[in-house]
Amino acid sequence: MSTAAPRILVIEDSLMLIRPLCRMVNKQGFVAVPVTSMAEVRQALADDPRFMAAVADYCLPDAPNGEVLPLLLENRIPTVVLTAHNDMQTRERVLCMPVVDYIPKESPSAFEYVMKMLRRIRINPGIKVLVVDDSQAVRQFLRLQLERHLYQVLEAADAEEALGILRHESGIKLVLTDHDMPGMDGVRMTSTVRRFLDHTRLAIIGISGSQDPTMTARFIKAGADDYLQKPFNYEEFFCRVTRNVEFVENLQALQESANKDPLSGLSNRRHFFEQVASLRHNYSVAVLDIDLFKRINDGFGHDIGDQVICQTARLLESFFPDDIIARFGGEEFVILAQPLDAPDMLRQLDKLRRALANLSISTPLGDLRFTVSIGMAAAEEADISTLLKQADNYLYQAKHNGRNQVCGGIIDQTSDPASVASA
Ligand code: GH3
Ligand code: MG
Ligand code: MG
Repeated sequence: MSTAAPRILVIEDSLMLIRPLCRMVNKQGFVAVPVTSMAEVRQALADDPRFMAAVADYCLPDAPNGEVLPLLLENRIPTVVLTAHNDMQTRERVLCMPVVDYIPKESPSAFEYVMKMLRRIRINPGIKVLVVDDSQAVRQFLRLQLERHLYQVLEAADAEEALGILRHESGIKLVLTDHDMPGMDGVRMTSTVRRFLDHTRLAIIGISGSQDPTMTARFIKAGADDYLQKPFNYEEFFCRVTRNVEFVENLQALQESANKDPLSGLSNRRHFFEQVASLRHNYSVAVLDIDLFKRINDGFGHDIGDQVICQTARLLESFFPDDIIARFGGEEFVILAQPLDAPDMLRQLDKLRRALANLSISTPLGDLRFTVSIGMAAAEEADISTLLKQADNYLYQAKHNGRNQVCGGIIDQTSDPASVASA
C-alpha cells in the first residue's frame, strides 16, 4: 500500500495567489497539484483522480460561474471553495452544493482557514459523531451536513438508544442532541452521559427549536459544551462543530502530554501511580535499569543513548503487552503485572533480559550491544511503595552480582518485610 502524502488539487488562476497557496499546502505535509483553469482540472483528473481534497477558485477564465464545482463533486473530491465574491447570491449558489466550505478571499486569514479545513478533511474520517433526534428528517439533514466534513455519523432516535451506543462504541467525540424527545429529554440525557464520559472524551451540543430562554443554560448546566438554536445557518453550525471537536482533541493532547514520557512514549512516573491507584493489591513489580548506560552515552553519543532507551521501551511493551509499563526517569523502567504470578513473571523478565542482550544497534561507530539488570518483588497484600522498595533492593543485588541478570522474590507478609526469598 502506498504511504505517499495525500494530493491536493489547487485550482487558482491568479499566479500571485497560487504560489503561496501551494507552498502552504505543501508545508502541511500534502502534495499540492496546481492548475489554473477548468481544462487543466479535467486533464489532472484524467491523469490521476486520487485527490484527498481540492481547493477551488470559484471563478476561472474558462469557468466563470463555479462550473468547476460540479465536476469536482462528481469525482467525489471534498472541495473547499475560495472566492473573490462575497455576495449572498454566490454564497447561496455555492452552499447549495455539497462542498466542504466556502471562504471569501477578502479575509487576510482565508488561507489559514483553508489549511485548517484540509487538516480536518484528513482527520475527520476517523471521528465519530452521534446525532440524537426523534425526527428522522432532522437526523438525515444533520447527517448530510456532517458528511460534507467527512465525519462518521451514527444516529439514535431517542436518549435510551443514544446511551446504549455511547456505552459500547468507542471513538465518538461529539454528540448533537435534540431536547424534546419521547422518553428521556436531551438535557437529562446530557447529565446521564456526563456520569460516564467527561469533557476529555466527548463534547455535547444541544440543539433545539424551543423558545424557552433558559434552554441554553439548562443544557450547559447539565454538562453540554454548547447550544444551537434552530434554525441555524450552515456556517455557524460548522464553526461550532469544529470548535467543539477541536476542544476535545486539545484536551486529549494535553492529557497525553501530561501522562507520557515524550522520548519513549511510555507512561511517566506520575501516570504510573495514577493507574496503580485504581488497582487492587496482588501484583508483581519489576524495576529495570540499563547497565553502564553512562558509558553508552560517553562512547556513542546522547542520540544513540536515546535510541537505546526507545528500543528498550519497545521490547518491554512487546514482552508485557497487558501490563502497566512506565519510564521512571533516565534509563530506569518499571513494570507492574497482575495478577500475581511471581515465577512466571521472573521467567518472562529473564526472557526480556536475554532479548535485550541479543539486540544489536548499528551506529556510525559500529554495532552496539547492551545489557540490563532487573529487580522484581511480588506480594499478595503489600502496597506499591513497599513493592517498589523491595524491587529496588533486588535491582541493587543484581547490579552488585555483576549486572545482566534478574533478581527477585516474594515478600513474606508473615515476617519482617525485609526478609525475602530470593529467586
Ligand atoms: P549502572 O549499570 O550502575 O546503572 O550504571 P549507569 O552508567 O547506567 O548509571 P548512571 O546512573 O551512572 O548513569 C545514567 C546515565 O543516564 C547518566 C545520564 O546522563 C543518562 N541519562 C539520563 N537520562 C537520559 C536520557 O534521556 N537520554 C540519554 N541519552 N541519557 C540519559
Ligand atoms: Mg424532537
Ligand atoms: Mg544504569
